[in-house]
Amino acid sequence: MRWCATNKNHCAGKDNYSRDDDNTGKDNYSRDEDNTRENNNAMDEDNIRKENKSREENNTKTKGYCEARHYVKVKYSTEVEPGSRAVSTAEMTEKAEKAEKAEKAEKAEKAEMAEKAEMADKAKKTGKAKKAEKTEMDNAVRCELCPRYCFLKKGGTGFCGARKNIGGKLVSINYGRVSSIALDPIEKKPLSRFMPGTVIFSCGSFGCNLSCDFCQNHSIAQNTPKTDYVSPEDMVGKALALGKVGNIGIAYTYNEPSIWFEYVYDCAVLAKERGLKNVLVTNGFINEKPLKELLPYISAMNIDLKGDGRFYEALCGTKKRHSITPSYIETVPKAPDIPTNRIAVSAYDIVKANIEIASRHCHVEVTMLIVPGKNDDLRFIESAASWLASVSDEIPLHLSRFFPRNRMTSTQPTPRGFLLSAAKTAGQHLKYVYTGNM
Ligand code: SF4
Repeated sequence: MRWCATNKNHCAGKDNYSRDDDNTGKDNYSRDEDNTRENNNAMDEDNIRKENKSREENNTKTKGYCEARHYVKVKYSTEVEPGSRAVSTAEMTEKAEKAEKAEKAEKAEKAEMAEKAEMADKAKKTGKAKKAEKTEMDNAVRCELCPRYCFLKKGGTGFCGARKNIGGKLVSINYGRVSSIALDPIEKKPLSRFMPGTVIFSCGSFGCNLSCDFCQNHSIAQNTPKTDYVSPEDMVGKALALGKVGNIGIAYTYNEPSIWFEYVYDCAVLAKERGLKNVLVTNGFINEKPLKELLPYISAMNIDLKGDGRFYEALCGTKKRHSITPSYIETVPKAPDIPTNRIAVSAYDIVKANIEIASRHCHVEVTMLIVPGKNDDLRFIESAASWLASVSDEIPLHLSRFFPRNRMTSTQPTPRGFLLSAAKTAGQHLKYVYTGNM
């Protein structure tokens, strides 16, 4: 421990240094640590008193230049290298602040440069993306066949999986592709009051514009099955050949025929020319214009009426509301813009409108599949039957039993008892009510 002194007579600095040099720093520290701070302080203060007293005695003798100067213990000190200039705290602070500022400025400059580079990169990318998007939009098409009005970018496929944008043109990729073919009793369609006891050559392709959880034909309606190409001429030729076993015509069935529109139309025109009947077994979810285009060639239809608007939305993948022209105005909007003169209605309303339109042109029967816990509500059956009767109480209604299929394999089949009650309820409004799959 050293005490600063300017008066050589009093401080004997060298001696003090020598004493320190004789002892190791460690020893000094050890000693300090061995003694308590109080002891040290007491000793220090005792020494200071002695030193001060001796200085005062000397001063009185010599009347030197450090008169009245007292030694004071300092708490903190920094040793300075011999010959170096002592740096004040203020100078050090200033220096540190300058260094900190410089560092900050450098960091800020680097961050700014990185940000600029990132923005330039983004702008480059956005420009490219916009250009790509514009090209995509230039080649986009909107399908107007059904109320989904799918907007298809180049290479895109519609919801039904049957229509695709190829090179900016909408193409029916299921045209002539036949997945299933059979000669069925007409009652199997089901049509109970259209040429009963006959058979009909039935064919189907793939795809559907609904995605019913309970779909009974999901392997071809919601998947892409193996198909064979059959031209309209060949299809009609086969149907004619089956005339010898009582075939009355062609039924477009199994998957949804309305999304097979161009093929069905071509076959139907040809079949009608050759005296055959055309039958559609459909979900009725089609726009008015194509429906009306097809109807002159159709002899009979079976149309599903699956449930109310919420049922279609929850189980069939439709929107809550579909935009259509009010009251089925003749003009169908031109692609790609949907005009503002539209109304939004549920799929249930659209299907009902199509049943009404179709019933004015051909024989129509309606099928309602009763799914437990979903549409097995007598009030709904009553209201649907009452509405159907308002179109015509001559329209036959088929109440069909559900069996676990597709995404509803854990739902139990419809209880027969409920189906009989539903038939009784509907029978209060309609002349012909049938139960199916019993
Ligand atoms: S038929 Fe309907 S589901 Fe299919 S592409 Fe056209 S709008 Fe979409």
